[in-house]
Amino acid sequence: MKTRIIQSFLALGLACTMQAQPKLSADNIQDVVQAMTLEEKAHMVVGIGHYWGNDMSCQSWRDIPGLPGGTYAIPRLGIPRLLFGDGPLGIKMSADRIADSHKYYTTSFPVPLLTASSWDPQIVYSVARGIGEEVRDYGVDVMLGPSINIIRQPLGGRTHEYYSEDPYLAGIMSSAFIRGTQSVGIGASVKHFAANSQESNRGANNSIVGQRTLREIYLKPFEISVKTADPWTVMTSYNSVNGTTSSENHDLLAGVLRGDWGFLGLVMTDWGGGYHPDLQMKAGNDLLEPGTEETSQQIIDAVKNGTLSEKTLDENVARVLQLIVRSHAFHNYKFSNRPDLEAHQAVARETGAQSAVLLKNDNQALPLTGKGKVAVYGRTAYFMCGGGIGHAEYNGAYYQVSMAEGFRNAGWDVDFDLAKKYWLMGANHAVAPWMNGGKEVDTEEKAVPASELAAQADRNNVAIIVLGQNSGEGSDRTKNAFYFTQQELQLVKDVTAAYHKAGKKAILVLNIPGPMEMESIKDIPDAILCAYQGGEQIGNWLADVLTGEVTPSGKLTVTFAKRLEDYSSTKNYPVLDKQLEISGMMREKPRLGMTANSEGSRRNIDYTVYEEGIYVGYRYFDSFSVPVTYPFGYGLSYTTFSYGNAAIKTAGDTFTVTVDITNTGRYKGAEVVQLYVTAPKGNLEKPVKELRAFAKTRVLQPGESQTLTMTVTAADLASFNEAKSQWETDKGQYKFLVAAAVNDIKATLSGAVGKKWTKKVNNVLKPQVKINQLNRKQK
Ligand code: BGC
Repeated sequence: MKTRIIQSFLALGLACTMQAQPKLSADNIQDVVQAMTLEEKAHMVVGIGHYWGNDMSCQSWRDIPGLPGGTYAIPRLGIPRLLFGDGPLGIKMSADRIADSHKYYTTSFPVPLLTASSWDPQIVYSVARGIGEEVRDYGVDVMLGPSINIIRQPLGGRTHEYYSEDPYLAGIMSSAFIRGTQSVGIGASVKHFAANSQESNRGANNSIVGQRTLREIYLKPFEISVKTADPWTVMTSYNSVNGTTSSENHDLLAGVLRGDWGFLGLVMTDWGGGYHPDLQMKAGNDLLEPGTEETSQQIIDAVKNGTLSEKTLDENVARVLQLIVRSHAFHNYKFSNRPDLEAHQAVARETGAQSAVLLKNDNQALPLTGKGKVAVYGRTAYFMCGGGIGHAEYNGAYYQVSMAEGFRNAGWDVDFDLAKKYWLMGANHAVAPWMNGGKEVDTEEKAVPASELAAQADRNNVAIIVLGQNSGEGSDRTKNAFYFTQQELQLVKDVTAAYHKAGKKAILVLNIPGPMEMESIKDIPDAILCAYQGGEQIGNWLADVLTGEVTPSGKLTVTFAKRLEDYSSTKNYPVLDKQLEISGMMREKPRLGMTANSEGSRRNIDYTVYEEGIYVGYRYFDSFSVPVTYPFGYGLSYTTFSYGNAAIKTAGDTFTVTVDITNTGRYKGAEVVQLYVTAPKGNLEKPVKELRAFAKTRVLQPGESQTLTMTVTAADLASFNEAKSQWETDKGQYKFLVAAAVNDIKATLSGAVGKKWTKKVNNVLKPQVKINQLNRKQK
């Protein structure tokens, strides 16, 4: 009897303990939340620290140097720690660890601005899958990418990290990236949400943007991502949107992201973003990164003093747990620490080659034929920019193949005497001054004496000149960075003249972070190839393209304007002579949500008004007839294509456009086709045309054809009506323009929307002040 009583007691005790100590699983998240103490909850919504901080409990830094953070573990409840890896150019982590001498290398892929120039979502998917595999194989759980802010201004420090000036294109590429990463069980974090268009004072700048502009331009890529790719997480940005910091912005997170778009995943801050943990929790920003003990304490205090309800905190915690149960760490995945780097090198090389944009090719200067002697000019040719600076750069890469090495690998004889001189000079773009203790870096190109140039032109078959520039997180490019320097121009002039005199060609390769002024240089060399920043394989894939192994098929995803002032955003952008001293960091006591009316506020630093409205990029140049150097969607090929049999079929609300593309030239090649739509005159003013779909052929042999199909629905044609807080597509006749570039229309078709289409959304994110917005009447 006694034993039975004891046994019953024990069983009851065990049951109680079990009830109080559930182990996390996908279907007991609520029980686990209930079983947590307030202290545990306050840790679950705060990251595990960052190596920059002084918190030595920072596990991620000690285990895998270079990782920015992760989530807290509670072993008693079966909650493992998750680790996050920075991207999106590859996973950023150190190749070296204290524990052993193994090299934990990662692949550095071409920058997103370049991968998007392929106009091939499958390419972006492959890159993201490769990154995802490395993240997984190194035991990390979430990739902090893709970065999908709209390229509002070429001076933006992170331009290379983003996809496009067009929201639809950026959204499609983002969706491909998320699907690629998540296909191997790694969570993506789409960043930086939202309207994060400048680095200068990024921690406190207030983006003042009209509701229509937000919906159509700055929020659109995020909307496409959430609706088509189910990202596991979204990262809020540092800046404020219409007065409120993104991570504290209830309108943005509860109103738009969760309310209008139905996002079910986790929202995390950017690192150190936001100022009030209680407001962040209430807005639905579930995880505060990188996290400190102080932040957890602030949350505990907020619950105790009633400014944050425990119910709200429970919802945030539940979303962190939902992320955890999806992760490899939760499922005890046995990671190999041996990713297939060789396979990823091949992806990186193929991606660069399929994405480069041929801007000029007079008299078919390219491709280079035979395997002759090549002279390579420019310091960048020997020390290339594989990717920009900041959290997106990778420091675990094996190596980087320079232009000179690429040609040597391809069996060319690279002028060694010339190469030696450049090697001795060193890189001209290694670090930005703000990362170099404020010291300016010697970026000058040195002139080559005329006699040496003549001898080089005599002994080589062709000259390749590489001009490069780096940029990155924390600072925007200065005004001068939009222009090539006098020395660079002179080098291109001198080299071209010497080679022309010897009856030979000079090719210019651009290793740049974004659009630059090309008017003063474009007429000089015989051919120009835009490589942007092409990852570790840049030299190899440049050789593939320049020698015709691969025919270039990339097209621009941003406009190259004639002058900086021509961009519609320039007058409302920090166009600076010098980078801001504390440009990337938070100010000590930031004044948030400033406008022109706030005392002592600095225009374009404390607040930035998006006066150009929806007229960003080609939407402006095209609608206001401003001539440009290279338009959106532009890119040449070694071969030529004909566009035939363009046709449109309308079925209810869906328009299907088909076109036959035939390779009519001498080389194999692929063609990108763009579909723009012009709306009938209606209630809302609209840009002259907007990109609504695109497609790319496979590599076609000479004479070969392929039919491309592009589909658009009435909903895809909608504009945002602020007065009614609704999306609407007017009834009427729409023009469907089949194009090779925004200014190169090959066929004009017509389709009718029979019935007005509308969709109401939450009326949120109103600007605090009236915006003097650009419109077409001002033309
Ligand atoms: C960057 C993010 C990055 C994070 C973590 C921030 O400063 O803006 O893009 O993911 O740091 O390193």
